[in-house]
Amino acid sequence: MDDVAAWRNDTIGEAAVKALKKNGFDASYVKTGAEAAALVSAFLKKGATVGFGGSMTVKGLGIQGLAAAAGCELLDHNAPGLEPDAKVKILKRQLTSDVFVSGSNAVTLEGEIVNVDGTGNRVAALSFGPAKTVVVVGVNKLVRDIDEAFARIESYASPMNNKRLSRPNPCVKSGVCMDCDGDTRICRAYQILRKRPLGTDFTVIVVGENLGY
Ligand code: SF4
Repeated sequence: MDDVAAWRNDTIGEAAVKALKKNGFDASYVKTGAEAAALVSAFLKKGATVGFGGSMTVKGLGIQGLAAAAGCELLDHNAPGLEPDAKVKILKRQLTSDVFVSGSNAVTLEGEIVNVDGTGNRVAALSFGPAKTVVVVGVNKLVRDIDEAFARIESYASPMNNKRLSRPNPCVKSGVCMDCDGDTRICRAYQILRKRPLGTDFTVIVVGENLGY
């Protein structure tokens, strides 16, 4: 990474952390994904149940492997070979997990966390339930405000996730949201965390690299 790109990442990353702290979140900025993984590891204690919200960022950082190595019980509804009933049980157990680890669709420079879900498991867990919540976001997820957050989701994150999940929605052809209306629509539960939800223990780790969609 050249010096100018590093400057930009550090500057907006630190600004996002400052705003998140102002909104009551525990937050920190690290330059690399490896540093972020090390911070998450500190929360992964032997025997703990660890829920995963389905994040490509978390997957890319190898957090599942770190949790398994630490002796945690993994609650991953995307684990291969799960029957539908088993998947639902895991989704419900995630809501009361010891640690819930997630990415996010967007974080604003005003310290807000913005997500759009299909099932709603992630936005539910980010609101209330887990004993500890950890969100990891790359600088590519940082946007100026709520309007930019939803623009990012509609023009980038959701179409990318539709493609990743092979959903037959119009954004897969257009590359941008077409506000579809069918049963396969994955954009259903819209959430803005303007402040840390009361009663939650919530850490946000902002990383000076591009991570996930
Ligand atoms: S609302 Fe429909 S078209 Fe828009 S991003 Fe979501 S799934 Fe794609």
